[in-house]
Amino acid sequence: MNARRLREPFGLRDSDEDRHDALVAALAPRKSKPRKGRTYPLVGFLACGKCGGPLRSLTRENGGRSYACRKGPGMGGCGGIRIQANGLEEYMRDLICGLLNHPRQRQLSREYLV
Ligand SMILES: [Zn+2]
Repeated sequence: MNARRLREPFGLRDSDEDRHDALVAALAPRKSKPRKGRTYPLVGFLACGKCGGPLRSLTRENGGRSYACRKGPGMGGCGGIRIQANGLEEYMRDLICGLLNHPRQRQLSREYLV
């Protein structure tokens, strides 16, 4: 389908072509580098049980992922907690799915979510 056939049903004339092209350009998806998915989905939700500081991402040279209370400039933690990411993320996923699937939660969802 050519551009004229797209414009005619909307009453756009050829003189509107510049505005049409500008609109198409403005609405076109922006071309940017594809982003990887979030690698540490629980960052911002976890706190250290020893000091209350935020658990931050920690990636080892071998690719192992952890959430850790990190000490040092700007880190705000004690360095006393580290937990392997995959196991924790699986646990949280199962916990959330279990809660959402609980009969009481399902009843509440039916009552309050329209
Ligand atoms: Zn800590």
